[in-house]
Amino acid sequence: MTERSHVTLGSPVAEVPTVGPARATLLHKLGIDTVRDMLFHLPHRYEDTRAVVSMRELSIGDAQTVKARIVSVTAWLSKERRLLVVQATLAADGATAEAVWFGKDWLPAKLNALKDSQAEVLVSGPVQRGRRGLRFRNPTYEEARDEQRHVGTLAPVYPETRRLTSAMLRTYVARVIHLAEGVVDRLPDEVRTAEGLMSIAETLRQLHVPDDQANATRAKERIAFEEHFLLQLAAERARRRRLSGQGVVIAYDVQVARAFVATLPFKLTDSQRVAAHEVLTDLASTGPMNRLLQGDVGSGKTVVAAMAALMAHRAGAQTAVMAPTEILARQHHATLDRLLTPHGLPPRLLVGSTSARARREVLEGLAAGHDGLAVGTHALIEDDVVLENLGLVVVDEQQRFGVAQRQRLRQKSGLMPNYLAMTATPIPRSLALSLYGDVDRSELREMPPGRRRIETRLVPPEQRAEAYEFTREEIRRGRQAFVICPLIEDSDKLGARSATAEYERLRKDVFPDLRVELLHGRMAALEKEERMGRFVRGEADLVVSTSVVEVGVDVPNATVMIIEGAERFGLAQLHQFRGRVGRAGHQSYCLLFQGGVDDEGSQRLRAVAGNHSGFELAELDLQLRKPGDVVGFRQHGLPEMQATDLLDVALARRARAAAVRWLDEDPELTRHAPLHEAMTGYRGVFDLD
Ligand code: ADP
Ligand code: MG
Repeated sequence: MTERSHVTLGSPVAEVPTVGPARATLLHKLGIDTVRDMLFHLPHRYEDTRAVVSMRELSIGDAQTVKARIVSVTAWLSKERRLLVVQATLAADGATAEAVWFGKDWLPAKLNALKDSQAEVLVSGPVQRGRRGLRFRNPTYEEARDEQRHVGTLAPVYPETRRLTSAMLRTYVARVIHLAEGVVDRLPDEVRTAEGLMSIAETLRQLHVPDDQANATRAKERIAFEEHFLLQLAAERARRRRLSGQGVVIAYDVQVARAFVATLPFKLTDSQRVAAHEVLTDLASTGPMNRLLQGDVGSGKTVVAAMAALMAHRAGAQTAVMAPTEILARQHHATLDRLLTPHGLPPRLLVGSTSARARREVLEGLAAGHDGLAVGTHALIEDDVVLENLGLVVVDEQQRFGVAQRQRLRQKSGLMPNYLAMTATPIPRSLALSLYGDVDRSELREMPPGRRRIETRLVPPEQRAEAYEFTREEIRRGRQAFVICPLIEDSDKLGARSATAEYERLRKDVFPDLRVELLHGRMAALEKEERMGRFVRGEADLVVSTSVVEVGVDVPNATVMIIEGAERFGLAQLHQFRGRVGRAGHQSYCLLFQGGVDDEGSQRLRAVAGNHSGFELAELDLQLRKPGDVVGFRQHGLPEMQATDLLDVALARRARAAAVRWLDEDPELTRHAPLHEAMTGYRGVFDLD
């Protein structure tokens, strides 16, 4: 006991007995620097070797555990591999078995000591037929004691690193687990009691030295709950802070909305009507809006934004619409011009290539306040753009902009403008609940009527030539085509098709008579814009590209989307590529070329072929992915969480309800200091902080 007494939760791990500087360096690789970090290095599973069988019941097969004495130890160098082979004979219940290990030079001394002391040893591992009866191969072993740590128990298995095993971690943890008692509980007692959760001290004990599997599971749930609770608390606080602020209030004038709808050349879809109503109601309330408008490509988000801009204008407020590329900004400008100029709100365009003279004119109009709608790219956030009456900010494909850029746009006026983000990237419900807790959402779940379904086919390698013939035929009819490749340049390692190589091949060998264009992410922004511009204007028949085209560019004349190495893309992303075609009345096609053919890949691709809902595909994507690759968390700057738990919708709901209840009682978080402290970890995660 005395050996432990000097370390505390804040001590560097090197001070834990037997750790030392070399191991401390290894521990650092696992993110463990202090004793506290070590206690929070949680096992991801347990090895259960509690069922001890009699030596007489031992049989060939999977891992089994026996309790025996070591009666002999021999060791020799193997001829083939110059590896030390260590063999021990185990005896118990009037029977014997062998155990054999390879390449463990230190083992004979340890085994001999156990043999000499005639200690009982627990041995666990898979059993084979050996030369002299049954034989354990590379078993784990531990001397039988009152309490087992490695064998004959529920032994935690931790995230490991080279030369730092779970067995070592168990030993270190055992030296400091008594300090769990002093860990401050971030969950208030009331919350724990209401949710039936154990204390943090008990949680850490049950995780590292579980009484049984049920307690270990309950402990893990408690950690997951805590993570969700803190996240929801941060989100809900950001939301309340925003709503209690004085935003720009834009009165909802039903007459204006009706007049606008009446002049549209089409009827709004039901979900457009609902979304518009949600947006307009939100604009009319005191707290500034923070809303995400989600809808597949072509679902008609722009009309909803246009209506909001018009309402802002009538209320005397200016609107800025920002898009990630110049082409997109120009397209928005053209659409808004058609929709809003007849209502006395002509949009002004500000992009990188706007001439100095035109720019000066636009800036003057905006600064003087007689122009109410600015559309553009990053050019909008330049310092000389003055928008004193900015009441509404619309950002298209917001994930393309950093938080800082969005903030700068918002800060154009001394007011707190309303914020509307539009995106065609569907956010699965499970993630939305966790990651967008502070944001209100409107969804366009249906497409305008009359859209033809894009015919989607998996193309086997032997039909490649046929697919090209088909594409050529479409182009001959005046249509255009995309070819998307997973890589920019050839890579031996990945063996996938690259845009540059495909471009050369298609241009020279397959379509020498056609105008082929190349586009990829490593090109300068201006060059990309120029090349895409040529395609948009119909000056190229076919564009070979990496995934850079995924965002909302409108090329109504394009009818064929070929995707190379389709299995390498996420389902939602494939769906977005597919949305690039079929923008006008022409029947359009999406051809999925598979690189490596395996069943799982084909199955995913068939899902895309058979499903035309971006929302459903996004949800499916998440389910098919391994928990480790769930993207977006890092990007959001979240404190570390167990990704699998993040997708637990029921838990997220429960935690959200608890967080809301807590904030109702304790809005300033003064009743439990650790909660307040924990909130610093979420700074900048939620947009309007
Ligand atoms: P996205 O959601 O991809 O931004 P847009 O707003 O660009 O979609 O709309 C795509 C096209 O559909 C535009 O040409 C638009 O005029 C048209 N559109 C929008 N709403 C409707 C509707 N309710 N009925 C018919 N066409 C519509
Ligand atoms: Mg759009």
